[in-house]
Amino acid sequence: MFGRSAPKKSNSTRYYEVLGVPQSASAEDLKKAYRKAAIKNHPDKGGDPEKFKELSQAYEVLSDPEKRDIYDQYGEDALKEGMGGGGGGHDPFDIFQSFFGGSPFGGGGGGSSRGRRQRRGEDVVHALKASLDDLYNGTSKKLSLSRNVVCTKCKGKGSKSGASMTCSGCQGSGMKVSIRQLGPSMIQQMQHPCNECKGTGESINDRDRCSQCKGEKVVPEKKVLEVFVEKGMQNGQKITFTGEADQAPDTLTGDVIFVIQQKEHPKFKRKGDDLFLEHTLSLTEALCGFQYIVTHLDGRLLHIKSEAGEIIKPNQFKSISDEGMPIHQRPFMKGNLYIHFNVEFPDSLSLDQCKALEGILPPRTSTAPSDMEVEDCEEVNLHDVNIDEEMRRKQEARAQEAYNEDEEDGHGGGQRVQCAQQ
Ligand SMILES: [Zn+2]
Ligand SMILES: [Zn+2]
Repeated sequence: MFGRSAPKKSNSTRYYEVLGVPQSASAEDLKKAYRKAAIKNHPDKGGDPEKFKELSQAYEVLSDPEKRDIYDQYGEDALKEGMGGGGGGHDPFDIFQSFFGGSPFGGGGGGSSRGRRQRRGEDVVHALKASLDDLYNGTSKKLSLSRNVVCTKCKGKGSKSGASMTCSGCQGSGMKVSIRQLGPSMIQQMQHPCNECKGTGESINDRDRCSQCKGEKVVPEKKVLEVFVEKGMQNGQKITFTGEADQAPDTLTGDVIFVIQQKEHPKFKRKGDDLFLEHTLSLTEALCGFQYIVTHLDGRLLHIKSEAGEIIKPNQFKSISDEGMPIHQRPFMKGNLYIHFNVEFPDSLSLDQCKALEGILPPRTSTAPSDMEVEDCEEVNLHDVNIDEEMRRKQEARAQEAYNEDEEDGHGGGQRVQCAQQ
């Protein structure tokens, strides 16, 4: 009417029109109007979803004095901005639900399953052991799982008639509060799911119980799932079967998730997409060359050999390109295979062997001391030692000593000083 900058008065009557009330309507008038219109237009009763959404939006705003005030003064747009622009407020079914509380259409059972915001069931996680061979070649495993499915006979109602009563143990809340005396003047209040109705808030008459599920609403079912372990999958990787976990009425079924647990391989070790092999060479092989055959994870035979004249040193690594693990979802690409060489030295040599070797090997780097020099020295002996073992033992001894000293000081002085310094 007055161009863009004018206050949008014209826009702030639509919600009243939607609900069919005058702008002067009281809170009670609004409630009545919404109740009537929402039931008439609920999609579960064949109403138009758009109209239903509009009604809920209008009621949500006008039933809140603060929002109504803003709406009356500035119109719809002001509210949209103020509400954080979340695409138009709340779920119309939630508003409907909060207005009517439990079952909106009276008479248990006929209620709307669409109207209720669904709970999500829990996921079920299983470990799936896979050998390195499985992960290299890919495989499929059939697993038989037992799960609950909604009873087909009663469609998850638990009763023959479809009716249920409010649980007397929890008055329908599904929760019970217990009070525990912790001390003379201390009590602890704890909430826990009602044991009589297992937290559902409903109870079913004994004679009305469904004969198939005995009123449990669900029955156990065996199901075989075929799990495809793809080439190159990693330890800890998840394979998800959406919606295959336990079913429950009015609950979005959770997933069954398998988590790959890679088994140790006796020969190959895996790091990411690479494989590692250990190989021990005799000293002769390390110096004069070697060849041997490795059976790969897919059964292929690899002929591994040194170059002519090449020497392998203890702890040396060699790599073979593209003989590691296949890369997941890129099965034509592979990591590397690394070989870690150990060299086994002979324990001793005869004098003749030494002489023969000295004739072949590079000359000594240091000359032996003369008799004169040795005469000025002290004679010492070399013992065999496992140095890691030796150091570990010594550290333990030191720790024990420190502990003993503390003990001698007593628990008094020394420790208190330590505390004060901290
Ligand atoms: Zn109960
Ligand atoms: Zn049943």
